[in-house]
Amino acid sequence: MNYYEARQRSDGSGWAWTSMNDGVIHTSGGCVTWPDGRPTEEQAISGTGPKPGQPHAHATREEAERCFYDHEAASLRPTQMPEDEQRRCEQPGCTAWTQRGLASRLLGDADLCDEHRNADGWRAVHPFFPDIEIASSY
Ligand SMILES: [Zn+2]
Ligand SMILES: [Zn+2]
Repeated sequence: MNYYEARQRSDGSGWAWTSMNDGVIHTSGGCVTWPDGRPTEEQAISGTGPKPGQPHAHATREEAERCFYDHEAASLRPTQMPEDEQRRCEQPGCTAWTQRGLASRLLGDADLCDEHRNADGWRAVHPFFPDIEIASSY
C-alpha cells in the first residue's frame, strides 16, 4: 500500500507531495525530484515536474497539495464506456449525455461530454480541497 500526502522535508526546506511505502518516503506527482525521488515515470523526463538538479519544495502543505492536484489535472487519460452505456456529463449544469470521460491517477474519474472533456471540466467535477491524504495499492 502507498500512502500519499504532503510531507515536510527533513531539512526544513519546505513541503513536497510524497508517497510512503514500507516506511520509505519518495517525492511523487509533480514533486518528483532527482536524486531523492524515484523517476519511474515518464513525467520525470517529459512532465511538468522539476528536472534533475532543480530543487523543488513548497512553502506550505497546501502548495504541495496544489502541485499534486495540478499534476493530476495535467495527466488525465481518456475513458470510454461500453457501447450500450451512456451517462450524463458531470459538469455542474450540463445535461448532455456522453460515453466518454477523463480519469486521473489518484483523484477520481469524471464522465464528460465533448464540450467539457478537458482539464477544466475535470477540475469542475473534482475541485481542489486541502488536507489530501490517499491510500492506494498503486
Ligand atoms: Zn511540487
Ligand atoms: Zn458537459
